[in-house]
Amino acid sequence: MILLKTAEEIELLRESNLLVGMTLGELAKHIRSGISTLELDKIAEEFIRDHGAEPGFLGYDGFPNTLCISINEEVVHGIPSKKRFLEEGDVVSIDCGTVKNGFYGDSAYTFEVGEVKPEVRRLLQTTREALYKGIEKAVVGLRVGDIGYAVQSYCEGNGYSVVRELVGHGVGRDMHEEPQVPNYGKRGQGSKLLEGMVIAIEPMINLGKRHVYQDVDGWTIRTRDRMPSAHFEHTVAVGKNKADILSSFEFVEKELKIDD
Ligand code: MG
Ligand code: MG
Repeated sequence: MILLKTAEEIELLRESNLLVGMTLGELAKHIRSGISTLELDKIAEEFIRDHGAEPGFLGYDGFPNTLCISINEEVVHGIPSKKRFLEEGDVVSIDCGTVKNGFYGDSAYTFEVGEVKPEVRRLLQTTREALYKGIEKAVVGLRVGDIGYAVQSYCEGNGYSVVRELVGHGVGRDMHEEPQVPNYGKRGQGSKLLEGMVIAIEPMINLGKRHVYQDVDGWTIRTRDRMPSAHFEHTVAVGKNKADILSSFEFVEKELKIDD
């Protein structure tokens, strides 16, 4: 069942998601070679709690940390570790969740650590652009398949592949609500997009082939061919003419000095 949100609930979701954006912005200050992924996790946990919220992922389905940190060929769900350090040339997806006033925030950004190979940089840029192509379709009257088609056709058209095993989702009092929002699909198919729907759109795009596997840790998803993967995610409210983006990259990109 798809749970539609009232205007008041959407404002609470905005608050939770804005805090995710601020947390990612805080993390952007600390992304450098030599920092451990557990250090980043602790910075995020403290920041979220200092802002009157709880980490959304900690304990969710038994996940042990505040952040999912996935480096290079890791697609998503990487577990922070005091033994894992960022290195020059890495790309690192940081996925962050919060819960405040009973509502979840969920957003992810893939960062570059120092100088990254041009082809990997392009993968990140294309994945970020694909997210916004998907968001353009999050309007009342279109369907979930229109979002997936927009993401897939853009990424495949640029020579990349789309991960199929993991998908976007509804967001609300639960982090993962219906409907599922795949990053592939057919125009005009799937659930109709309605006013009051809040969804996370989150392309996971690979430089090489689309196939992935799960690590024996039970969480980390990796590309089978060990080529890099990128992941960008926003939580958005479906709008009449235009989606309302509830999360934010503004804080990150101000830190990184990226103008859009
Ligand atoms: Mg996420
Ligand atoms: Mg998500």
